[in-house]
Amino acid sequence: TTKQLIMSEKLAAIGEITAGVAHEINNPVAVMQGNLDVVRSVLGERADELATEFRLIDEQIHRVNQIVTKLLQFAKPEEYAGYVDRHVVAEVISDCLPLVQHLLNKAEITVERDDRASRCVLMNRTELQQVLINLIVNAIHAMPDGGRLGLVSRDEDRDDRPGIVIQVIDTGIGMAPEVMQRIFDPFFTTKRREGTGLGLSISQTLVTRQGGTLVAESAPGKGTTFTIWLPEAN
Ligand code: ADP
Repeated sequence: TTKQLIMSEKLAAIGEITAGVAHEINNPVAVMQGNLDVVRSVLGERADELATEFRLIDEQIHRVNQIVTKLLQFAKPEEYAGYVDRHVVAEVISDCLPLVQHLLNKAEITVERDDRASRCVLMNRTELQQVLINLIVNAIHAMPDGGRLGLVSRDEDRDDRPGIVIQVIDTGIGMAPEVMQRIFDPFFTTKRREGTGLGLSISQTLVTRQGGTLVAESAPGKGTTFTIWLPEAN
């Protein structure tokens, strides 16, 4: 659709600018980090009096690093992504789950899988994992008091093209329409401190680049479903 086209052009333009900016941010941040370590070691034991302040600075530097890394992954994917290959979706999902198991346990979330796809997707494995983990972690964040995480894959044709649908379904807080409208915008987040607002915009870019789509449906108080469609690998 026109809206998707405008969005992807917008993302491409942002990508070019951000690659440059991200590289420029890396150096000053490294200098700050280095000098902070020097200050700390010169202060020796007296650094303990400033433990809180040091921790805050460390946290924020870590956060800047995280944002820059995500931006570079998005803006310069060819430097970060290897080759594209055929993958069985169920196997990629199985690789993702151990990485989030501690979060699932902590929030008392049960996983319900329905692996029905017989076709393979064509994508870089790390990128596909990155997309799935983004969606799964968002789903977990949406269910602080527990719930069910559905992970579905099945064969589905779109416009006569053979493909695969992957769904990440949660029974969490859901989203209001005015939030839904903006979730794929870079830097849009409702998670004040821990959010970067980059997960979904990067995920959508990675999926779109492989000729696929990523869309969301949500009902406030009931839950959210993210649906990926990817063309079949020949
Ligand atoms: P971040 O998670 O860092 O905020 P994202 O781009 O991944 O960035 O998500 C943007 C916003 O979309 C989130 O802040 C949240 O408001 C909303 N969101 C994403 N996934 C879900 C979900 N499963 N349930 C409810 N809200 C969600």
